[in-house]
Amino acid sequence: MSPPGKNEVVVQGISASQGIAYGQIFVYIQSDVEVPNYQVDAEKRIAEVGRFEKALVDTRQQITKIKAEVERNLGPEEALIFDAHLLVLEDQALIGETIREFESSGRNIETCFNQISSRYIQAFSEIDDEYLRERAGDIRDVAQRVLQNLLGQAANNLSHLVEKRVVVANDLSPSDSASIDRSAALALVTDSGSRTSHAVIMARSMKVPAVVGVRDLTTRVRNGDWAIVDGYDGVVILHPSEGTLFRYGKIQERKKTFEQRLLQANEQPAVTQDGVKVALMANIERVEELSAVKEYRAEGVGLFRTEYLFLNSARIPSEQEQFVAYKTVAEALAPNPVIIRSLDLGGDKPMAGNPHLFPKEDNPFMGFRAIRFCLVHTDIFKDQLRAILLASAFGKIQLMYPMISGAEELGKANAILAECKAELKARGQAFDEKLEVGAMIEIPSAAATADILAEQCAFFSIGTNDLIQYLLAIDRVNDRIAHLYEPTHPAVIRTLKQIVDEAHRRNVHVSVCGEMAGDPVFAPLLLGLGVDSLSMSPVWLPSVKYLVRSMKMSEARALAQEALRLTSPKEIYAKCDAFYRARVEVE
Ligand code: PEP
Ligand code: MG
Repeated sequence: MSPPGKNEVVVQGISASQGIAYGQIFVYIQSDVEVPNYQVDAEKRIAEVGRFEKALVDTRQQITKIKAEVERNLGPEEALIFDAHLLVLEDQALIGETIREFESSGRNIETCFNQISSRYIQAFSEIDDEYLRERAGDIRDVAQRVLQNLLGQAANNLSHLVEKRVVVANDLSPSDSASIDRSAALALVTDSGSRTSHAVIMARSMKVPAVVGVRDLTTRVRNGDWAIVDGYDGVVILHPSEGTLFRYGKIQERKKTFEQRLLQANEQPAVTQDGVKVALMANIERVEELSAVKEYRAEGVGLFRTEYLFLNSARIPSEQEQFVAYKTVAEALAPNPVIIRSLDLGGDKPMAGNPHLFPKEDNPFMGFRAIRFCLVHTDIFKDQLRAILLASAFGKIQLMYPMISGAEELGKANAILAECKAELKARGQAFDEKLEVGAMIEIPSAAATADILAEQCAFFSIGTNDLIQYLLAIDRVNDRIAHLYEPTHPAVIRTLKQIVDEAHRRNVHVSVCGEMAGDPVFAPLLLGLGVDSLSMSPVWLPSVKYLVRSMKMSEARALAQEALRLTSPKEIYAKCDAFYRARVEVE
């Protein structure tokens, strides 16, 4: 309730974990360890390296202990992040460079480690990919722990929080989140962060509402202030009035009922009211997401973004390492299909620590990326193709190439695939001889030549994220022009229709795996245009399935016909939105 003299203030952030909470705020400020800088005498240099090694061992023990606690309290999935932290401690590049820096500069080991780890953090934080940017946070979290151990400081965390509070932090590392007693956190709010930060992943698994990216909130609130956290709309309401509290109480009740309905619908098949079955698949980036694929009842994986196996590692994973990852997914989901996409590195996803493979470019989105990179670095490409082929003996794997711009590129990729098959035969190793190969359609030139590509493919997967950016010439990660990134632009709708028609004329299956597929406002339009299957982040499956089950395919076709006639993106959006709202009573 607004205390005397304090007016209600509404602040907007990014919705990160759903739910509504009301309570008093606890402000938590995470600050960097202060690192002294001094010269180490020559006779103490061996002992200095020993001190570093001991700090690494101590840090390992602490992280292993936290991991065990998180595993016990939240489950094995949530504890996996600490495996990534343990890997940072084993990173030979980071440790080796620190020791080399120490040997050449003679400065104390804290200074050298701080300097090298900061360089890594900086490199990761500049990557134009939300998920990878968050990895900078992992390195920072571990580095702070190592520095605390070197300096003999106690960790500053949230373990002392016992009363139920809305935690408002400038940032939350996984260690911070792990230190929170789940019964004490009503909600988590951070100044920084994004939807993929680990604090958020943990908030979701703790089932507490979370809002991130609320800029300078920690500077505007005090311990004990009252707030509503609306994790649905990404809003924090400070000093809420009686009226607001009443309204939120009602919203909370309605949302809970609707979510229960979504989850119930998710147990049912994805069949429209007029009896058309729709295939709903999952997009994954890591093997660990298998449990979400199953939990949300996906009918397989429509996009496995394999580059994350590479991006999360300091070196290129071997054929054997990749084989284990692909086989794990294929076996776990068999007989359902798993569409593995070959490497889509480069562009917004360069491999940190490999500048020789990805020199700096002026236009990375139109640069040396994905299939272009693979057709040059054929050794890396072939290791991956052989790993995929070998895994295909253990389930139903399909392969697709990203960023195909035309038939020639597709032909070259397939020729390399044929070489890999011949090599495996020569080695006497089994693979699925009938492995289906598809192309991602995400470049306008591929869309324009869909008729030619369809002759060389078993399926198409339309990457609307990139297709829209290239069709409309709107950089997909540039905030300043984000309002011009319009999935309902007539150019997009017409292009989608043309791709689907050309593919179907040649019996080629069409899926959409861009973000449009997981948005219940757009899914009916895509299905109405004739798209055969939709692949999305697992968490979106219940709401898309709910909509599929509440509409008729004939209605979706009529919506698509109308969209094809209209000329304004806003008007087409309004039609899609109205279609959605008419079938979903509670929003
Ligand atoms: C796309 O471009 O729509 C797509 C699915 O690929 P990514 O988002 O990985 O570029
Ligand atoms: Mg793409």
